[in-house]
Amino acid sequence: MIDLHMHTSRCGHAEGTLEAYVAAARAAGIATIAFTDHLPLPAEILARDPHAAEYAMPEEQLDAYVADVLAVRALSAASGGPEVLLGIEADLHPGNESHVRRLLERHPLDIVLGSVHFVDGWAFDDPDRRDGYSDWDVRALWERYFDDLIAAAQTGLANVIGHADLVKKFGYVPEGDLAPLYERAASAFAAAGVVVEVNTAGLRKPCAELYPSAGFLRALRAADVHVTTGSDAHTPAEVGAGLAEAREALLAAGYDRVTIFRNRIGEEISL
Ligand code: ZN
Ligand code: FE
Ligand code: FE
Ligand code: ZN
Repeated sequence: MIDLHMHTSRCGHAEGTLEAYVAAARAAGIATIAFTDHLPLPAEILARDPHAAEYAMPEEQLDAYVADVLAVRALSAASGGPEVLLGIEADLHPGNESHVRRLLERHPLDIVLGSVHFVDGWAFDDPDRRDGYSDWDVRALWERYFDDLIAAAQTGLANVIGHADLVKKFGYVPEGDLAPLYERAASAFAAAGVVVEVNTAGLRKPCAELYPSAGFLRALRAADVHVTTGSDAHTPAEVGAGLAEAREALLAAGYDRVTIFRNRIGEEISL
């Protein structure tokens, strides 16, 4: 299996060095990993939310992050693996495209995850910001989140859409049929040519299921959207966590391949 989503202590809310993650992946027998620390946030988000300093590395550390991942990649290759890819998880919300583009274009990235963690500047996945859910009708929130997620895919900035139904994290799920929402997103992702990750972090959160859900995954398969897998580890012990469940869910949805990215070019490998 491949684990193309993990964070290190550099992002301000995860634990562990690059070396510790590589050692954990080697011990777990994972062939390929991608480091995907959070891309530095734009000034307007940092000014608006005092927590935001702990959501991502500061901009002045981005060059050091890239250099450190490239160094650990060489070290890992010389010590029997795993293969280490240079990735980033970029926040894609309306108005953030030029900030993201400016930061991405300077670096030799293998993979860019595009994620929506903010709606109208509200970090809806921060456990300390859960009070924000009381301002929303859940159905309206989901519609708005999916609009922003589709727009994120359409920017062309991301290879992979991260944790595609993250809005369910704390268990706020609308009543009624969600299939039309999933089908709308799936056809937009197919048209945009983005891959979707099966992210196992949801198994460790109140929602207690993979991102995306089984129903969403079926809609993605029906639209021929390609997929990859990631643990979204925030400690070395979480590297590879849940990948067996991800594989089962993919097989059940009819997938037999996952996509890996090198130099931002996708290649399908057998699951
Ligand atoms: Zn994180
Ligand atoms: Fe994320
Ligand atoms: Fe992440
Ligand atoms: Zn994440």
